Amino acid sequence: MIDFSQALQDKIDLITQNWIEAVRAEEQIQTAKQLTYDSVCDSLPIVLQAMVTMLSQSEDSDTGTVIEESLQHGTVRAKQGYDAQEIAREYRLLRRVIFDALEPELVKGSGAEVSRAYRLIDSAIDEAIADCFQTYTQARFQELQELHNQLQLTNQELTRLVRASQENLSHLAHELKTPLTSIIGYSELFLRQRNSSPIRDSVPNLAHIDKVLSNGRRLLRLINDTLEISRYDAGRIKLQLTATNVRSAIGTVVEIIEPLAKEKNLEIVVECTPLLDQVMTDYLRLQQIITNLTSNAIRYTEAGTITIKTELLSDEQWSLCISDTGIGIASEDCDRIFQPYFRADNSLGAYIPESTGLGLAIVARLVNLLQGKIELVSEVGVGSSFTVIFPLELDGVEIQE
Ligand code: ADP
Repeated sequence: MIDFSQALQDKIDLITQNWIEAVRAEEQIQTAKQLTYDSVCDSLPIVLQAMVTMLSQSEDSDTGTVIEESLQHGTVRAKQGYDAQEIAREYRLLRRVIFDALEPELVKGSGAEVSRAYRLIDSAIDEAIADCFQTYTQARFQELQELHNQLQLTNQELTRLVRASQENLSHLAHELKTPLTSIIGYSELFLRQRNSSPIRDSVPNLAHIDKVLSNGRRLLRLINDTLEISRYDAGRIKLQLTATNVRSAIGTVVEIIEPLAKEKNLEIVVECTPLLDQVMTDYLRLQQIITNLTSNAIRYTEAGTITIKTELLSDEQWSLCISDTGIGIASEDCDRIFQPYFRADNSLGAYIPESTGLGLAIVARLVNLLQGKIELVSEVGVGSSFTVIFPLELDGVEIQE
């Protein structure tokens, strides 16, 4: 007689390892690629241990643990940014990895033993999927609710903006239309399906929520960036100067942004002079400039290196240069890319979801506010270099204590 419970117990480590490798190798589970081994693993060994008990002839079943851990797993995956399809794929891989590992025992077992093992493992995985999706959906709904609240608040500010200024308005309306239509369309579809179908929270339903969320987030970013520009244009941004260590400001940005570069196998090289450790500048605005330029460098580079370099140029000036080995910018576009909503017709061709055409318009305004100037050198197919030259002392700006 084959003891499937013991066989599974002996193979918990092997199954866990094989599953994590399979998840990380799966092209259609992109989110897992940014996670550590432990984060992908989450509570799998505990769930497998509970399956061992379920398979055992002598002990009471342990569905309670599967339920508890899977409920928690759903919240964890939502926080990690998984979409519903990715979760479904993970469970499909788990089923395969478990049965592959147990194959030597399965071929030896009697018909009744094999069918019992299949039935119990399948039902444990089905239970896990259902519970995981339950909390995953709750987390998504909560996020949807928060997004909705934020959109309402920004909508009020947008209304004020519309009253205050007509400039850029047709552009803005055009830009808002696509994500907004998508949000409305998918929410309606989702609500219709939820009301009419007895099968709730299925993968396609959750995929629709994911679309609503990603479009909602894009819309929010678009509106917030527009508001930022309008605040600047209305002269409402006040600088807060403090003695800043430029190298550590760059370090903080790189730490946040590096996973995006890693995803594309790009290297970020930082070459900072130690001389700029007490520069009078607005820390947050400087970080915003570095963030926008570096995330563009990553977005528009397919292979190679992003370099962030600072230099002390003289007693009066210092420079920040962010260069990439990316697609480059055609000379006729070099001035226009600093205009709001302008996006070059580039070789990446595909629609870039994060693109709003506002990042450089914000950079140009912030550089101006910090009394600097920005220069661009670029060659199509070779790369781009954005150099910002700042004064060491700003005229007529109060220093914060
Ligand atoms: P976004 O990147 O959100 O579209 P930006 O204002 O930051 O908006 O950039 C405007 C346009 O300038 C981009 O759409 C892109 O065509 C071009 N661009 C910006 N940075 C780079 C870069 N490092 N390499 C190539 N093209 C760039």
